[in-house]
Amino acid sequence: MNKHVTLSIDGRTILADEGKNLVDVAAENDIFIPSLCYFKNMDQPLGTCRTCTCKVNGRYGPACTEKVREGMVIEVGTEELKDMRKALVEMMFAEGNHICPACEKSGDCDLQHMGYELGISVSRFPHLFTDHKIDWQARRMLLEHNRCIKCMRCVEEVRTDNGKRVFSYQNRGNDTLVGIDYEQEALLSTEQAREAMRICPTGAIIVRGESLGKPFGQRKFDMKSTRTDFIPQRAYAKSSETKEKKRIATTSLAGCFGCHMSMLDIDTELLELVELVEFDKSPINDIKKFSGRCDLGIIEGGCCNDENIETLRAFREHCDILVSVGECAIWGGLPAMRNQLPLGECLEEAYLNCSTNDAETALVPYHKELPKLLNRVYACREVVKIDYNIPGCPPDAQHIWKAVKNLLWGEKFSILYNEFKYD
Ligand code: SF4
Ligand code: SF4
Repeated sequence: MNKHVTLSIDGRTILADEGKNLVDVAAENDIFIPSLCYFKNMDQPLGTCRTCTCKVNGRYGPACTEKVREGMVIEVGTEELKDMRKALVEMMFAEGNHICPACEKSGDCDLQHMGYELGISVSRFPHLFTDHKIDWQARRMLLEHNRCIKCMRCVEEVRTDNGKRVFSYQNRGNDTLVGIDYEQEALLSTEQAREAMRICPTGAIIVRGESLGKPFGQRKFDMKSTRTDFIPQRAYAKSSETKEKKRIATTSLAGCFGCHMSMLDIDTELLELVELVEFDKSPINDIKKFSGRCDLGIIEGGCCNDENIETLRAFREHCDILVSVGECAIWGGLPAMRNQLPLGECLEEAYLNCSTNDAETALVPYHKELPKLLNRVYACREVVKIDYNIPGCPPDAQHIWKAVKNLLWGEKFSILYNEFKYD
């Protein structure tokens, strides 16, 4: 019979089998410790990602490498630890190139799920936009380095029948990446290759011809959340009874206009809004110039040309509160995919080498009236101070307007899980 031990997690006394993994013991007691590299079936937990960092007997360390023992005192839910774990996951998003709406693993991805669970709406670290190549040379699979978080799960777990590793770490420091041994990879059975894809907590390993895509509602994380705190802080605590009319301006910079379309998707509630809100400069009413000061500015899209920069600066100047709405405004989004290549190469590919262009007449357009392209696409907060971010691609209409009402009249609101999820 297993020996029982008594430990304390965030002041709660817990009885557990001695030697059990701390992450599992916490989960059994409805205490969520985020984890990414931790894989239940692994004998030696990896402790590589540090997402499960807690305080054990006063010392910081990963929970996944801890086995419970008598008298342990564990801290999980302090604000400091929550922020530390959040920062670690934000770094992963900033270091890779994660375009969730275009990723096969979306909805089944542990990293994405962790982003939701930790309430990440924007990374506090600048996106690096490193050009991580895709390794497509293996017989069965592709390795999408843009999505790899170097958790080491594949390195440890994926082996051929004769016990040889298929994946290994290459290089050192910032240049570390996971490489495939092509000879060993060719020896994997189809099922073993699929298992490698399943083991990967992100969409980095893709087996040729095997789609990860599943319909909405059938994906691992579609409706599951451990979070109960989808009620953000009140930003502007003004009385909700005295709803004086407010003035809003909106603009679409380097985006697809999807966020504006989403904003208009609140059906009959639009009538209420028309009573409460007056639109100033906005593509919604086609007013092109500011007529005065605005309470709120809503920005869709990032900055890809000099005209975007000028518009964004004008919004900052005229609006009391400035909000980035959607992924393109928050970090560059899809237009920022070009940030991994020099501008010249992008233009050549788009205008000269593209297969639909006539090679004889093709030219890169240039005219003094055309906005000048920037060397890369910039997130709005890289150009001006942004007060709030509403994430999503696009954010749900209810999410946008609940946040707007909170900002303008201090109305409390909660966001349903399905309103917050947009993948
Ligand atoms: S691997 Fe996960 S986080 Fe990265 S793009 Fe794909 S779904 Fe998003
Ligand atoms: S490929 Fe996947 S499993 Fe392997 S290290 Fe990268 S994220 Fe982890």
